[in-house]
Amino acid sequence: SHLVNQIAAGEVVERPASVVKELIENSLDAGCGRIEIEVEQGGVKRLRVRDDGRGIPRDQLALALARHATSKVADLADLEAVATLGFRGEALPSIASVSRLTLTSRTALSEASACDEGRAWEVTVGADGQIEDPRPAAHPVGTSVDLRDLFFNTPARRKFLRSDKTEFGHLEQVVRRIALARPDIGFQLRHNGRPVLDLAAANGDDAGILSRLDRLLGNGFSAQSLALDASAVDLRLHGWVMRPAFSRSQADQQFFYVNGRMVRDKLVTHAVRQAFSDVLHHGRHPAYVLFLEIPPRMVDVNVHPAKHEVRFREGRQVHDFLFRSLQRRLSQGTL
Ligand code: ADP
Ligand code: MG
Repeated sequence: SHLVNQIAAGEVVERPASVVKELIENSLDAGCGRIEIEVEQGGVKRLRVRDDGRGIPRDQLALALARHATSKVADLADLEAVATLGFRGEALPSIASVSRLTLTSRTALSEASACDEGRAWEVTVGADGQIEDPRPAAHPVGTSVDLRDLFFNTPARRKFLRSDKTEFGHLEQVVRRIALARPDIGFQLRHNGRPVLDLAAANGDDAGILSRLDRLLGNGFSAQSLALDASAVDLRLHGWVMRPAFSRSQADQQFFYVNGRMVRDKLVTHAVRQAFSDVLHHGRHPAYVLFLEIPPRMVDVNVHPAKHEVRFREGRQVHDFLFRSLQRRLSQGTL
């Protein structure tokens, strides 16, 4: 089963950036308010994600590292209506199979966690995949996943990694994408002891959300953008599009989320491009942060284990909705 995990890891865990994505999603699923990410040498040497979420009881630490032991889907029918970000029960065992992993956690004191004795517990996965017995540890309420030497036992994968700088760049992008969608969560990111991002949790009002946008997309983004909120029967599109007059020459300011998940999708890109096509000068790119809310039954998020892709069941309807909503807002905004 250690081998099975390593094979699955090939799909879920490409590089430090994909590890950090899985770990942050777990922290969000655990209802945390703040996430601290500590990285050494691009995440290959060391990667630690610490949250203040609900924690994992002592008697479930080993289970969290077991394959398909997700606590989030009771049966297969649930897969149709996945509300949480993670649901495959694959990430932790996969990551554990290609690194030296320690999982430390403490739950808030309650009857249910009486066996925790009101303290933190920690488990380590041995090189053979064996999970050791929990031992007492020091940790506030929440969870830390601490891994070292990513791919130490899979040299073929390790060979595909780029320089520390490049790997960290990818990792930072993942953190930024998630932070953009979750202004309600505080994020801290450090690389080799140096602070890279320090984002306080916004209190959910517009000012807080706009200041998170400006922190991550450059000062002025919010001032140069149009807020948008459009609904059709089952669909809602909201967020910000930069006024065409301020559109940028760089192509990296497109953020699109489907039910909270950042995706890159041809249909989406096409619909947005088309809406902008009349008003955008040649060589300029639309900049936007947009959130599509869609009933889970109308979208398949289960296309790929790394979950970058989605497949819309009613592609045409989604395309038309996006196009029309954007075009309408752009024509109002440029009056
Ligand atoms: P999935 O997220 O698909 O359920 P994972 O392998 O990512 O699978 O995690 C396995 C289980 O471990 C989760 O279902 C959850 O119960 C627990 N877990 C993992 N990370 C955390 C965390 N940061 N806080 C609380 N529980 C966690
Ligand atoms: Mg997960």
